[in-house]
Amino acid sequence: MTLNQLTAHEIINLIRKKKITTYEVMQDIFNQIDKVENSIKAFLILNREETLKQAKEIDAKVKNGEEIPPLAGIAVAIKDIIATRGTETNCGSKILKGFIPPYNATVINRLKKAGAIIIGKTNMDEFGMGSSTENSAFGPTHNPWDLERVPGGSSGGSAAAVAADEAFIALGTDTGGSIRQPASLCGMVGLKPTYGRVSRYGLLAYASSLDQIGPITKDVTDCALIMKVISGHDNMDSTSVNLEVPDYLKSCQEGIKDLKIGVPKEYFIEGIGSEVKSTLDKALKIFEKLGAKIEEVSLPHTEYSLPTYYLIATAEASSNLARYDGVQYGYRAEDHEDLSSMYQKTRSEGFGSEVKRRIMLGTYALSSGYYDAYYLKAQKVRTLIKEDFDKAFSKYDILITPTSPTPAFKLKEKVLDPLTMYLSDIHTIPANLAGIPAISLNCGYSKTNLPIGLQIIGKHFSEETILRAAFNFEQNNDVGKRKPSIKPAKYKEVAE
Ligand code: GLN
Repeated sequence: MTLNQLTAHEIINLIRKKKITTYEVMQDIFNQIDKVENSIKAFLILNREETLKQAKEIDAKVKNGEEIPPLAGIAVAIKDIIATRGTETNCGSKILKGFIPPYNATVINRLKKAGAIIIGKTNMDEFGMGSSTENSAFGPTHNPWDLERVPGGSSGGSAAAVAADEAFIALGTDTGGSIRQPASLCGMVGLKPTYGRVSRYGLLAYASSLDQIGPITKDVTDCALIMKVISGHDNMDSTSVNLEVPDYLKSCQEGIKDLKIGVPKEYFIEGIGSEVKSTLDKALKIFEKLGAKIEEVSLPHTEYSLPTYYLIATAEASSNLARYDGVQYGYRAEDHEDLSSMYQKTRSEGFGSEVKRRIMLGTYALSSGYYDAYYLKAQKVRTLIKEDFDKAFSKYDILITPTSPTPAFKLKEKVLDPLTMYLSDIHTIPANLAGIPAISLNCGYSKTNLPIGLQIIGKHFSEETILRAAFNFEQNNDVGKRKPSIKPAKYKEVAE
């Protein structure tokens, strides 16, 4: 076993006991990257030299008897939609190729202060728009469990990097499921925090009222650990909430006896895979065995989540993406006659087709004459969806659902059919619309050895409870922890 295969908390323990050095850890990480990255393609940028330099600095401090920072030795991968000072941040888009932010996102500063090392930036669907990472301008990422399948998206690079043991922890962003769905398809843990729990300063905006940054990790303990570091109020983000950050690790230790669990019947729709359903049923029995009470619950407006989301998200995106005009950032088209032809050519050449589709949809929904019928209506339905949850949480502590209707699908299977692709997020979108936290963790495998995820949804700022429920399940299930066996040779044949 090499060090990169361990979890972050195992590495932290070994470093504290001075059994290993940060340099050794980073060497194992980059050995793995050299071995598998060609087949996975999780990263857009790797900071190899900087990583090894920082590792040596940490080791020197430890040798001098200085205090060991809490995340020393932890290699973190960052979705390329989060600003990193001095390192290109392009959101998987040609339009931001070459953009080097002059500042760090708040989450980056918090990670660095805790001693984590940012090893690189991960691939993603352009501006977070997609569920398979196939909408990246720089080519798709492959699922480590089966290289012919997608890792999910839009944070597919982040989920694949952690699943392939190329990083211990990754940050993703979740507007409609982009942390939880790829975590599920890659067998990892992914948490979308409550809106306002983690600062969005330095997150390049897709849909501002839905976007949240959160972790993708190998287990629930690592998720709790990193949430403690990145959460909390930030003056630079006016939507971040000034609430104390609980000790998530401590609350995991408590049991779940008497926890009341609701299982929303609307999530077990037609189209949900039979293996997903039977695996989830088995998982629910484990929660029951641990003392939780389980009942069916109804969230009657669930069926409107998808259309509501695609109106609100595209409306906000059309406004947020107006800033990419060739003037201030990244790409500018050549051969233009005047200012407006420069805008037009830059945006035509710089954006991919899914981004263009959404800008058109969103502009239409916001246009005068249609605003009331589409955007305003969607906002009203959003309130109804939130009220469904409020009602459910007056009776239940958490809700449990599948994360994704199916395990990882094949590359190219859905990319030409946007509506089918949109259905991938049917179970994750409602939590974004309501602004509530939700975590996905592995609860089993398909017959073909693909991971299946379970989602736990909680009320606003109840990350403690969903982490506790997830931790208890993780410790007591009989699923068994598997690692993907990455078979590069097989993929090459297929790729030709
Ligand atoms: N797949 C959804 C979309 O395309 C969600 C994306 C996300 O959460 N960033 O909008």
